[in-house]
Amino acid sequence: MTGESNAAVEPLFDLACAACGETYPRAGFPAVCSLCGGFWKHGEGFAWRPPGAAGGLRRWAAALGLEPDELPDRPLSSPPGLYALDGGGEGTAAGREPGVPAAAVAPAVWICQQGSAPSGTYKERGAEVMVAAARRRGVRELFLDSSGNAGIAVARAAAERGIRCTVLVPATTAAGKIERIRAAGGHAEVVPGDRDATHRAAAGWRRRLPYAAPFFQPSFLAGVATLAWDLAGGLGAPLPEHWLLPAGNGPLLLGLALGLSRLHRAGLIGRLPALHAVQLAGYAALAPGGPGEAAPGPPTAAGLAIAHPPRRADLLRALEASGGDVTRVSEEAIAAARRELAGRGWTADPTGAAAFAGYRLRGDLQGLAAARPKASPPAAPALTAEAASRRAPACLVIVTSREAELE
Ligand SMILES: [Zn+2]
Repeated sequence: MTGESNAAVEPLFDLACAACGETYPRAGFPAVCSLCGGFWKHGEGFAWRPPGAAGGLRRWAAALGLEPDELPDRPLSSPPGLYALDGGGEGTAAGREPGVPAAAVAPAVWICQQGSAPSGTYKERGAEVMVAAARRRGVRELFLDSSGNAGIAVARAAAERGIRCTVLVPATTAAGKIERIRAAGGHAEVVPGDRDATHRAAAGWRRRLPYAAPFFQPSFLAGVATLAWDLAGGLGAPLPEHWLLPAGNGPLLLGLALGLSRLHRAGLIGRLPALHAVQLAGYAALAPGGPGEAAPGPPTAAGLAIAHPPRRADLLRALEASGGDVTRVSEEAIAAARRELAGRGWTADPTGAAAFAGYRLRGDLQGLAAARPKASPPAAPALTAEAASRRAPACLVIVTSREAELE
């Protein structure tokens, strides 16, 4: 039994089963507890630490318990692609150009454009940290099921470390995404049926290969937690009160909740932001009113077409703990959001645009943002007690992935 802090345990492997308390094994790379199938929970060993001077994910190597050279030093999305929605036109350059701190413009609504990552998605963070952890454990081959974006990011991270990676993709996946998995060095296996069918097919593979599922693997979630840390560093305190993000299988929701909890534990933020999950009509597994009605034909937002997310209970807990809720969006609303984002110079694939579609449906949150007085810009982003007295921006909308170049 564990759950207590253990300084000898490396941060990424300071884990115990959330259901039975079993300690994470000393060898192997299990996706879930081998005794009871429960999900891994991070212990006290995983904590926010001041970022290093190195670039990209390497700045968080100490907190992750990795050596800097186990992570890429390319820029990723740090600063994390922050733009002011009400800055007019394409938004301000804050967060995009060095020397223009995001908090210098103090808008009511921030857009976090994760499509600026080299693989075009926030999932690169999780993938790099997960595959670095797998390599520590001597993994030579792994697999995952993915609607595309995670598969691309994991395939790339694996190929760079000499690890063989197979990606099971649903037959509904756009040809361009399958091409990109192969171009990234992965082996794509097309599974008949929808995204849920692909997840079922993964069960057989799990008996013989480590399962690099973003929503199971705690090291992937730790990688996503660094997005919360980079956002906090770029935005300064207080953080926006409401964060909108797409949720299918939920690694973004789980990873951000993890990262925010560590910022809170470190005393860097007071109140946790409310996390608002945006889900696709017909697949809104977390919505109290039910999943809603799916549009006819294959869903365009493949990453959100998840009728039965395995971690539904954990996702609901994360929403409830933050005070957030669920917004259902239609294919039409997503299409309109993509047009509006494109008009501002931000391309997004349908899953990537979903959170913005959700924001446009939320009269309450838009009203909150509109009522927010235009604050005088703070001098610099800072996570300090004085900063906490500032007026928080109302909303942060996370656009998770850009349009695939090959589509
Ligand atoms: Zn267990």
